[in-house]
Amino acid sequence: MMFEPDDETLRMLRQSIREFVLKDVEPIASRIDNEDYFPEPIFRKMGKMGYLGITVPTEYGGSGMNIAAQAIIEEELGYSSPSLALSYGAHSNLCLDNLYRNGSELIRRSFVPKLASGEWIGSLALTEPGSGSDALGMRSEAREDGDQIILNGSKTLITNAPFSDLFLVYARTGDSYSAFVVLSSDKGFSRGKKFNKMGMRGSPTGEIYFDNIVLGRERVVGEYGNGKDIILSGLNSERVVLSFIFTGLARRALETAIEYSTQRKQFNTHLYRFELIEEKLAYMYIKYETSRLLVEKALHNLERDRMDSLSAAAAIMHSTESAEYISREAIQILGGLGYTKDMVVERLMRDSILGQIGAGTTEIRKHLIASALVKSFKKDPKILGSV
Ligand SMILES: Cc1cc2nc3c(=O)[nH]c(=O)nc-3n(C[C@H](O)[C@H](O)[C@H](O)COP(=O)(O)OP(=O)(O)OC[C@H]3O[C@@H](n4cnc5c(N)ncnc54)[C@H](O)[C@@H]3O)c2cc1C
Repeated sequence: MMFEPDDETLRMLRQSIREFVLKDVEPIASRIDNEDYFPEPIFRKMGKMGYLGITVPTEYGGSGMNIAAQAIIEEELGYSSPSLALSYGAHSNLCLDNLYRNGSELIRRSFVPKLASGEWIGSLALTEPGSGSDALGMRSEAREDGDQIILNGSKTLITNAPFSDLFLVYARTGDSYSAFVVLSSDKGFSRGKKFNKMGMRGSPTGEIYFDNIVLGRERVVGEYGNGKDIILSGLNSERVVLSFIFTGLARRALETAIEYSTQRKQFNTHLYRFELIEEKLAYMYIKYETSRLLVEKALHNLERDRMDSLSAAAAIMHSTESAEYISREAIQILGGLGYTKDMVVERLMRDSILGQIGAGTTEIRKHLIASALVKSFKKDPKILGSV
């Protein structure tokens, strides 16, 4: 079953992004990985085509579509180049959507059109060297100084950081947290190293530093001191939308495995006729389909309630574990060739592992699921549908 919304516009969007991926992304997908190459021209072209600002209203330079449209783009990019999908997600969902949703009118007018058009590249900066899972343990700090705000600290493992012009940055502000727009052109901003990663190569990941950056009040995103709410509501959307990357990745791995099993013969028999291969294909399919059902449900729920952490955590946990399982089994079905860079599945498997780390790890997702379940159960013991 494929998530095919009735909406004709979304159906046409899937068609157009598929054509774009086939023509512009697939021919360079291996190069992106082999050379750790960020395809900047393709990324900027995605801005011109309206994909980067897909959820932003047209008056701010976007395409005015809903979050399902962004999920479709993620899935189709994830089918070909999960790393490009990750950079797209960091720019369009983590940075741009959060900025548009929470920013003042001045922020919207000043920065949103530049990000939607691809003139600028964006990042969201939460993780620090000393705080990953414990995000609120951050040490970056902003203090008020008259009309201005002085920002100090650093962030690490930030997607797109080596290329980004604009960062949505979270920092401690006394006992609370706040979100700020920081520009790479700000005095006191600098970039650190770019990481050399096992997967998601071509999606540039780096460090950034803030040394007494002076920000005007207009750079505060949302209310000063209200950053925690922005972090939490943004994380649910991020988890749901990024789940679609791994659904696309899993579909590609499963299709590759099925095709190979119908072509390759050993012992004068097609691979798919061996019971042990049949078992693999059956489990791969079930994991793919259950992921799809969960991510679609989470997307449906997100459109109604941004604070539904249960569906979001369940969708990303299952879809990323399934993507890793399916791509690993695909390698096994392809045998020795599966282990080479001649076939796409080894890249997909390396890329799949990021799914269990970024946007909160699998361990943190388990905690989120269990605690949301218990909380709901205490309110209503029939939460799972018992009558
Ligand atoms: C390619 C890539 C891109 C990224 N992009 C971004 C980005 O754009 N913006 C951004 O802000 N961050 C980004 N990150 C950072 C990512 O969100 C963090 O790596 C992630 O949240 C985990 O934090 P950590 O690496 O510090 O691991 P840690 O928090 O140190 O965790 C280490 C291990 O301990 C486990 N653990 C931690 N706490 C608990 C607990 N309470 N119970 C059980 N187990 C626990 C973890 O699950 C993990 O297995 C990115 C990371 C990568 C690899």
